[in-house]
Parts: sequence; structure tokens; C-alpha cells
Amino acid sequence: MGDRPEIVVIGAGPAGATAALRLARVYLNVLLVDERAHAGGRGFPKPDEDDPFAAPDYRGQALRRGLREQAARIEHRAGWRAVDLAAGMALTIEDIASGRRETLVPRAVILATGGVDPKPDVPGADLPGVFALGDIESVLAASLEQPRARIVLGGSGPLLWRTAAELIGQRRSLAAVIDAASAPSWRQVMTMARQPGLLEQGLGWTRAVWGSRAALHRSSAIAQIRDGAIRDGAIRDGAIRDKLGALTVEIATLDEQWTPQAARRPDIAADIVALGRGMRPNLAALGSAGAVMVGDDGDGGPRLRRGDDLQTSVPGLYAAGDAGRVAGLDAALAEGTIAALSVARLFGRADDADLAAAAAEARQRLKALTPFLAAIDDWSKPRPGLMALAAKRV
Ligand SMILES: Cc1cc2nc3c(=O)[nH]c(=O)nc-3n(C[C@H](O)[C@H](O)[C@H](O)COP(=O)(O)OP(=O)(O)OC[C@H]3O[C@@H](n4cnc5c(N)ncnc54)[C@H](O)[C@@H]3O)c2cc1C
Repeated sequence: MGDRPEIVVIGAGPAGATAALRLARVYLNVLLVDERAHAGGRGFPKPDEDDPFAAPDYRGQALRRGLREQAARIEHRAGWRAVDLAAGMALTIEDIASGRRETLVPRAVILATGGVDPKPDVPGADLPGVFALGDIESVLAASLEQPRARIVLGGSGPLLWRTAAELIGQRRSLAAVIDAASAPSWRQVMTMARQPGLLEQGLGWTRAVWGSRAALHRSSAIAQIRDGAIRDGAIRDGAIRDKLGALTVEIATLDEQWTPQAARRPDIAADIVALGRGMRPNLAALGSAGAVMVGDDGDGGPRLRRGDDLQTSVPGLYAAGDAGRVAGLDAALAEGTIAALSVARLFGRADDADLAAAAAEARQRLKALTPFLAAIDDWSKPRPGLMALAAKRV
């Protein structure tokens, strides 16, 4: 790779790594930066190789192997963060370990930084023992917390249910699942059934929660978390108390627009609380590039305006995967390929038959996913009323 990379992909998750690999196969050189130590992102997190029970992740392995095999064309800088993309496509990247910075001016940038799941700003969200929903699995895996610590999860949508099912599978003590959404309607379920594999995955998570001892509260949200208001038996384990404190979780019921209502459900005692309000695109690296955003009527955060080719309003800046629209793994893989074709076109390499065929297939996949994703949004996308929760004392 020359000194001046012409194509930079930010994020080596499923979308970014796919894009980089597709570009390398049409003989284009790519600089791939990712703040993590390993490629794979959230979709294919590298399992602990010392753990003999870790489930094999074949797609993630294939992706990482592909990047190694294409090392002549793909310079993968692990542990590097894109800190700012300024006007004129001036991209500043930073080596996290040393703090050393470089500014590049590539012709094409694919933003594939995934999604973020910010902790909602409810009272008590900053207490020790309270985490973002999307982080809770890695927090638990990395810590030596007592497996008996009682966990309460709050949020909505697939991430909530998947996380609940994972924790139940790990035999964690899941005390309650607080879902802002109501149960999906039959019409929504019938639409989701157009993707039978994905629906079955979701039903599996539902069955796991139903079959567990966790209390399930639908149409409800965590309104406040209090420290130290401990019920009988909650501090039986001194280690948990010292480390995390015991928490009391107050829950509000929500109306159709997810506006908190006066009626409350009984408080719940917990040692760990994980709460989310839905994933949204991670645009932190975007800086002052001047890309046009489209608003969001709920609490899904702003999104980049993109054309069919995934180009934003800034020529040469593309967004793929959750960074463009939070839509899950399959969509991220498809968009990685579509973004690669668009960038290949910019460099006069779009006539490659394999790439064109892969992009056509990716478009078909996205098209097939559209009704399913719309039904998921319809069911579980945060609604405006929820934003009142931090401000409003219910
Ligand atoms: C706990 C959890 C469980 C999930 N389970 C499922 C599931 O079962 N099915 C499903 O379809 N989807 C699931 N998802 C969603 C799925 O993981 C994502 O949709 C998918 O990973 C999106 O791929 P991506 O490449 O767009 O982003 P990501 O996989 O998020 O990758 C983004 C990459 O960008 C890097 N990055 C971000 N900012 C910067 C920066 N400034 N500089 C450098 N690098 C940066 C990150 O380190 C990361 O490696 C889950 C998500 C989470 C959090």
C-alpha cells in the first residue's frame, strides 16, 4: 500500500470487513482502521480462544482469515480510531496506544462504525452496577462478578430479548425483563414470518424468557434506579454489596406512544441493571464532514441521508451497516458488498462480474429483509413518549 491510501474503511465489523475484502478482490488497496484489537465488530466478536466451550464462529473466522490472506491489499490497523472526518474528506486517525495521529485525504471513505446503544438518561443510570444493554454481556464476561447477582434488563426490541436469552443460557440470575414494547401483533408476527429463520430465532429468545424465572413486564420502562434501598435478603452476599451496591428499580407503565403513566408496577431489587433505548448509528467519527442527516421521529437518533449506492451527501463518503441504519447482521453484510461496488465504480473497477453479481444478490437480500425490518421497527422502535422519561417524574 502506498503512503496515501485512497480508500479508507472505518470499522472492521461485518459491513466494513466485507467491503474491504470485496475491494481487495478487484485489486484495490484499502486502509481498514478499527479501534478493536480484532476484526469482526459486534457481529462477529472474537471468542476467547482459551475457552473450550466458546461456540465456534465460522463466519467471523472466515472474515478474519480473508483479511489475513489479503494483507497485501488490505492494511488492517487494529487499535486505531478514526477521530474526525472534516470537510474536504480530511480524515484524522489515532493510534489508541501511543496517541499518535495521522491525517489522510482519501478519495473514498466507507463509514462502517456500527451502532451505539447509549444508556438512557433516567435518574440513577450513572450508579455503579448500571450498564448499557449492548455492553452487559461483555461486562459480565470480563468481570468476576458473582453469578448469583440479580440482573434486571430494560429496553426494547431484538437486542433486549437476545440479551435476556443469552444470560438465561449462561444460568445468570435474571430477575426481570422490562420491555417498552407490547407483545407484537399478529400482523407483525405474520410479516416477520416472511423471514422464517429470523422469526424462529426470536421465538427461541421468547421461549427462553417465558421458561425462566424472570418476571416479564411489557409496555413498561425503567423510570428510576435507586441505590441502597435494600429489601430483605438483598445483601446476603456481601461481595456483591461491596462491589456493586444493591439497587432498587422503579418501573413505569407506558401508553401506546410509550409515554410514562402514573401507575407504577412494584419496585424490583437488583444488583446489576442493564438498560438501553434502542441501537442507533454510531456517527461519532463524522466530525465536520458536513454530511446531511435525516431526522428521526422517535428516539432512534439521526441518520445519514444515503442514496441507493449508500453514498451520503458528501461525494466519496459512503455509510454501510449499522452506521447507516441499524438493521442487524444480514443487512450489514449486504451493505458492505453494495458499498464496495459503489467505491469500485468510483475507481473504474465496477465491471468485475463477481462483484456485480454479489452486489445484485446483496440488493435482493436487503429487499427481502425490508418487510421484516419494518415489522421489527413497528413493534419495537422507541416512540417519542419515552424521551419524557428522564425529565418527567411519574
Ligand atoms: C450484544 C449484541 C447482540 C447482537 N445479536 C444479533 C443477532 O443475534 N442477530 C443480528 O442480526 N444482529 C445482532 N446484533 C447486531 C449486529 O451485531 C450488528 O447489526 C452488526 O454487527 C452490524 O455490523 P457493522 O459492521 O455495521 O457494525 P459492528 O459489528 O458494530 O462493527 C463496527 C466496528 O467499527 C469499529 N469502530 C466504531 N467506531 C470506530 C472509530 N471511530 N474508529 C475505528 N473503528 C471504529 C468498532 O470497533 C467495530 O469493530 C447484535 C448486537 C449486539 C450489540
